[in-house]
Amino acid sequence: MTNMMRQRAVALRSAYRAIPLYASGDGEPSAVDLSDNTNQWGAPPTAVRALAGLPSSAASCYPRAYSPVLNRAIARYVGLEPGNVMTGCGSDQIVDCAFRALAEPGEWVAHLDPSFIIVPSFARVNSLDPVAVPWSRGGSPDEPILSVDPEAVLATRARIIYLCSPNNPTGTVIAPDVIEHIVSRASGIVIVDEAYAEFSNWSAVSLLAKAPHLIVTRTFSKAFGLAGLRVGYALGSPDVIRECSKARGPYALSGHAESAALAALTHDLEWMREHAATAVEVRERLAAALRALGGYRVYSSGANFLLVVPDRSRRPGAAAIAGRLLEQGIAVRVFENLAGIGGALRITVAPWEIMERCLTTLEELEGT
Ligand code: PMP
Repeated sequence: MTNMMRQRAVALRSAYRAIPLYASGDGEPSAVDLSDNTNQWGAPPTAVRALAGLPSSAASCYPRAYSPVLNRAIARYVGLEPGNVMTGCGSDQIVDCAFRALAEPGEWVAHLDPSFIIVPSFARVNSLDPVAVPWSRGGSPDEPILSVDPEAVLATRARIIYLCSPNNPTGTVIAPDVIEHIVSRASGIVIVDEAYAEFSNWSAVSLLAKAPHLIVTRTFSKAFGLAGLRVGYALGSPDVIRECSKARGPYALSGHAESAALAALTHDLEWMREHAATAVEVRERLAAALRALGGYRVYSSGANFLLVVPDRSRRPGAAAIAGRLLEQGIAVRVFENLAGIGGALRITVAPWEIMERCLTTLEELEGT
């Protein structure tokens, strides 16, 4: 390499310089990973067998460009038509594509704060401006309850309104009548992120027939236990799905991912539902146990995780608690300073023996 080549500066896109690279929180692997809301009971058995049985052509050939067979199976699962479905490399990609396809550069994306942490970044990488709307607060000190003021969301007049229900990282289920009200009054697009839909009992899918500007996003990464394969999907009107598919581009889903998701939908629904129901039971038991310990505020959750806020007069800070759990081989997600909440831990629910190990550590910790 000549000196001249070494000194040459790379011309990078200036608008991207201030956008942080997504901090996944994945540090050293731990024996138990409760940091990312994956299925702690494992992967669906038929899907795993389907992967093992794939011919070598599944690796050497391209998959179908837009996964039509999986689209049909998803359509059956949610009670829509295949033209209402688009798949992607995780629902991350779906949200990113929807932002790119459905708003002009410079328009706004409204989201609750805190919500899915990557959403403001996806807005910015697509030359959109994120607008944070605070949650309304209620409930008791031990069991805070968040809710959405629909007028505050609508008042942003954002081109895209992103709602996440159940919400990551708080677990909050947004009231169906609030979602309906926002959908019926929004002048632009509404995206309802239902990554945790299978742990909850209401879905905005029921609104799609009357709302061509609504998109519901879902994933196989959580209740379906296939996070490693990266399969997400969007549900919406055929026009919206077509535009988002242009932004996504062809071949986003590998043949392996498509085969496993298809097998899971065809043969493992009972497995998924059983484990989702167990996760909900464990979540409630863990929430009750944490409230009984004292010194932790636990947000009520409709997902497979709990947001736990240590009371600093009685317990150490979130990062210190996470450090102690890591010493026991358990990783949880730390949030240093969530808007209106402060330092918090997000704990994915897992078989009760693992929850008991967490509880033992949390019980021992005293404020500093
Ligand atoms: N939406 C929400 C609310 C999430 O919590 C996640 C995963 N953390 C995703 C979307 C993305 O999921 P995936 O890309 O694995 O489908």
